[in-house]
Amino acid sequence: MNSLQIQFIGATGTVTGSKYLLTSDKNKFLVDCGLFQGFKVLRLRNWNPLPFDPKDIEAVILTHAHIDHSGYLPLLVKNGFRGKIYATRGTAALCKILLPDAGHLQEEDAVFLNRHKLSKHKPALPLYTEADAIKSLESLVPVDWGKKISLTPNLDFELFPAGHIVGAAMARFVSRKSRITFTGDLGRPNNIIMSPPSPLPETDYLVIESTYGNRNHPPEDPRKTLQDIISKTVARGGSVLIPSFAVGRAQEILYLIYQLKIKKEIPNIPIYLNSPMSVQATKIYCDFHDEHRITSGDCEAMCHTAHFITTVEESRRLNTQKQPCVILSASGMATGGRVLHHLKFLAPNPKNSILLVGFQAAGTRGDALVHGVDHIKIHGEMIPVKAQVATLDSLSAHADANEILNWLRHSSHPPKITFITHGEPLASDALRKKIEQDLGWTCHVPDYLETRDL
Ligand SMILES: [Zn+2]
Repeated sequence: MNSLQIQFIGATGTVTGSKYLLTSDKNKFLVDCGLFQGFKVLRLRNWNPLPFDPKDIEAVILTHAHIDHSGYLPLLVKNGFRGKIYATRGTAALCKILLPDAGHLQEEDAVFLNRHKLSKHKPALPLYTEADAIKSLESLVPVDWGKKISLTPNLDFELFPAGHIVGAAMARFVSRKSRITFTGDLGRPNNIIMSPPSPLPETDYLVIESTYGNRNHPPEDPRKTLQDIISKTVARGGSVLIPSFAVGRAQEILYLIYQLKIKKEIPNIPIYLNSPMSVQATKIYCDFHDEHRITSGDCEAMCHTAHFITTVEESRRLNTQKQPCVILSASGMATGGRVLHHLKFLAPNPKNSILLVGFQAAGTRGDALVHGVDHIKIHGEMIPVKAQVATLDSLSAHADANEILNWLRHSSHPPKITFITHGEPLASDALRKKIEQDLGWTCHVPDYLETRDL
């Protein structure tokens, strides 16, 4: 038979919900298994049945640990998946903290909705629980970089560094019929922490992300911007709240603050990392320092720059703090987590600053803040936004349009078709045009649930 087929089950027209069904002969595999986030219409998709039976999936291959790529795994296992989940060692380590936390957050949200009677559903249920997430971790199988893993006699795969976060990989699948490579989230040539992505391996089909397909990161110096915002906010007696992805971004910000502190370029105010997950992720970054640019000594010193907040008590106490401080807290798009309590407290005061340091998906509170709303809804309450809202766009862990083009340009062998996914519609389409015009490659932006023979 030797057939190979792909179905796009997520990350079409959006940056979330990454899931690709790869069918080789009759064997079914999933590449990534992410949650939809952002707009309610997308989040509701997490509750819809999948277009296949989880029992029929033989294995999942993860590109990286971010929840929009891994966060559906507990539900997949809960619904009958019994195969292996292949991931790099770094991704496996990060999943062990990210997935239970995702389950825990969903349980907390359901409790909150029930207590305040905010859901149409009685009772509101979590999508999955922390216990479901912990169970799914048993299926993780760590894979070495560049090692061929045989899935069937006719299909194997290997993982190459993608330079996005610790453990982030591109996955190339090779069958007798053809080869397909998934970039996962593609990193940048000059990230503050991560080493650059590997060259694109030879491939017949390519599935590439397009988060920044229609934009280039500003050429700002992120350290200078951060210094400026912290110094000005502290000078007017305010605090800086930095909603931050726990994995990757929190470590980049910490590293920048560490550099600013040792050079005495910012006032000597307390820095709090208020996210148990960020605290654990920072330790994992230190364990995997061969994947990034920070030495183990600098990692150690960076960890001492901030007070690591773990308990709920300490977290609450932060909101009673009178002195200016910097609080880094998750989640990065302010969709949930402890950052919401700080937002509620800090957003109404014009002395404070809210610094958004990552991509904000449409429909999230972070996106609303970037667009200058004067109120945001938190826990059913309308909170006035009087604090200064600033963004630091240059810190992205995703390659921008020019960086993607330059990375592709170096490939020796143009793919037959380049599928463009993981972007808002305008971003994916802009990248399609750019690749077609500049490189002359054939591109296609797939629709949700579209199927293609390879
Ligand atoms: Zn990612």
